[in-house]
Amino acid sequence: MKRFGVFLLIFCIIFSAALTTVYGQQANSRLRVVSSTFNRFIDMLSESARTYWDIQDNIPAVNILAPDILLVNRDNPIDRYYRPESMIDIARYVRSTRHSLYLEENAARAYIDMVNSMGDAGITDIAAVSGFRDFDHQTRIHNAEINRQANRFPREEARWRAAMIVAAPGTSEHQSGLAVDVSSAEVGFSLTTRFENTRSFRWLSQYAHNYGFIIRYPRDSTEITGVIFEPWHLRYVGIDHAARIFESGLTLEEYFIAYAGGIWSE
Ligand SMILES: [Zn+2]
Repeated sequence: MKRFGVFLLIFCIIFSAALTTVYGQQANSRLRVVSSTFNRFIDMLSESARTYWDIQDNIPAVNILAPDILLVNRDNPIDRYYRPESMIDIARYVRSTRHSLYLEENAARAYIDMVNSMGDAGITDIAAVSGFRDFDHQTRIHNAEINRQANRFPREEARWRAAMIVAAPGTSEHQSGLAVDVSSAEVGFSLTTRFENTRSFRWLSQYAHNYGFIIRYPRDSTEITGVIFEPWHLRYVGIDHAARIFESGLTLEEYFIAYAGGIWSE
């Protein structure tokens, strides 16, 4: 019990420091936390949480702070055996470059709904390229990327370069079933930053939040997210979170802190 008190104290100190940073940045045109500080903060929180709680459901410990948002990133890996409870094969309902492509049930329904709305708006060439990937699949494509980078860089450098492009196993949102990569005929259904200039992307960046999706790895956010600019990677967070993330312009990492700290609690 005493240990718990100590933890709470430490927690409060760290939290108020982080929130001061968040509010301090409000003076700027955009809320933004210095990335290294932020990642260290998230790291410390998950360490503390890991020490004091039994983690349920194989999710990263930091998620205790905001249980309705699943935060998976390089500092908060998901358990290798984690799988969404229920999934839907969206390739049965909407265009996909694959035979079958699974998303977590709620994310799947929202995605199908969104693509239908795009169709109503005259945009019919969007396709889902990847969805749920289990730990072993992620391991294979991550290793392949390391080998690709190793052709040009020393092994150690190849490792961190690869991790920015294909997340290391356990650190990919695709294992949560809440992420979907999309592309369109305009760019030959490839996952390229040129997707940014397509009608599909322009529609998504305006309206995806109405369906609970965010552009998870925006331009110029690599320092915070640890991932390169990926206009094609959509993350389902539900309509309420997506609306606030859209309006605030925050990354999910920044929003997670602000939300867990009660900024949007009223
Ligand atoms: Zn992706």
